[in-house]
Amino acid sequence: MKLRNLGLALTVYGIMTAAANAQAVSPGGGHDVVPTGKGGWNLPAASDLAKRGRPKPPPPPTANNGINYHNGPVMLGTVNIYYIWYGDWSGNSAVDILSDLAGSIGGTPWYNINTSYYSGSGRQLKHVSNSVAFQGSTTDDYSRGKSLSDDDVRDVVADAISSGRLPKDTNGVYFVLTSADVSELSGFCSNYCGWHTYDKIDSANIKFAFIGNPDQCPSACTRSRYHSPNDNIGADGMASIIAHELSESVTDPQLNAWYSSKGDENADKCAFTFGNIYTAPNGAGANVQLGTRDYLIQQNWINANGGSCGMSYP
Ligand SMILES: [Zn+2]
Repeated sequence: MKLRNLGLALTVYGIMTAAANAQAVSPGGGHDVVPTGKGGWNLPAASDLAKRGRPKPPPPPTANNGINYHNGPVMLGTVNIYYIWYGDWSGNSAVDILSDLAGSIGGTPWYNINTSYYSGSGRQLKHVSNSVAFQGSTTDDYSRGKSLSDDDVRDVVADAISSGRLPKDTNGVYFVLTSADVSELSGFCSNYCGWHTYDKIDSANIKFAFIGNPDQCPSACTRSRYHSPNDNIGADGMASIIAHELSESVTDPQLNAWYSSKGDENADKCAFTFGNIYTAPNGAGANVQLGTRDYLIQQNWINANGGSCGMSYP
C-alpha cells in the first residue's frame, strides 16, 4: 500500500496494483508495488553486459532468488519491537497473545528466513540476525479518534516517543495496533491489512507499522473463520500481519533494499500461504509453535537456492 510515497503494506489479496508496502487482504493473490521513484528493477543480464564489451561480472547473488537487492540498508543486530495499543483493548486476550509473539519470534526457524537477506556487496555482506527483543509497549486512548490517516499513525508513534512513553530507538520497529473499531482511511480491509514505513521522528530514523484488527473484516484479513489457535480471531490474524510487517521492516526498512521486480517485499511474496497446517489443541488450524503458543503465521520468502516460500530456513 502506498504510504506518502513511502510504505509497503500487506495488501488485500488481488487488489493492490499501484501501491507500496502493504499486506494484501483476502482471496486472490495480490502484491504491493513500491512507491514511485523506487520501482522494481532487475539487474542487467550478464549476456547484455558482455554484448557491450565489458568483462563479464560474477553473477549477483540475488539474481535467481526472485527478489532483488537495491543497495539500501537492512536492520542489523537485535531488532527491537515496540507496541502501541491504540483504542480499546480492555479485556482483550490480544495483549497476551501478541506480546507473547513479540517475545518469542526471535531465534526461531521461521524468523531465521530473514537472515537470508543482507546489505552490502562482495565480501562485505552484513546479514540480518535471528534476534528480536520485545522492548516495551504503551497505550493510546484514541488520541486521533477512530478514523486514522497515515499521518495520524505516524503521529501516534511520534507522540509515544516524544512523551517518553517509549524510547527513541533507530533499531526498533514500532507497531501501532488498532482495536477493531478503528479504521485506517487509506485502505485497511479494502487494500491492505497492515503496512510499514519509516520517517524522521525527533531527528531519528524511525521504522513503524500499522497493524489493523481483522475482527473488522475477517473475510479479508484472516484465514481463521470460526476458530483460531488462541481463540481470538482478530489477534490471531494480527499475529500473521505483525510477522509480515516485521520481516519487511527488517529486510527493507527504508524501502530501498529488498523487493522484487513487481515491487513485492519478502513477505508479500508469500502472503496468505501457510504451508502445512496442523490442528492446535483447541481444534483450530495452526502452522507454527512460537514459545508456548500455536499460531497461524504466513510463510516468508527464502532468499536462497532460487527462492521459495517457507516456514523455516535453512
Ligand atoms: Zn507487505
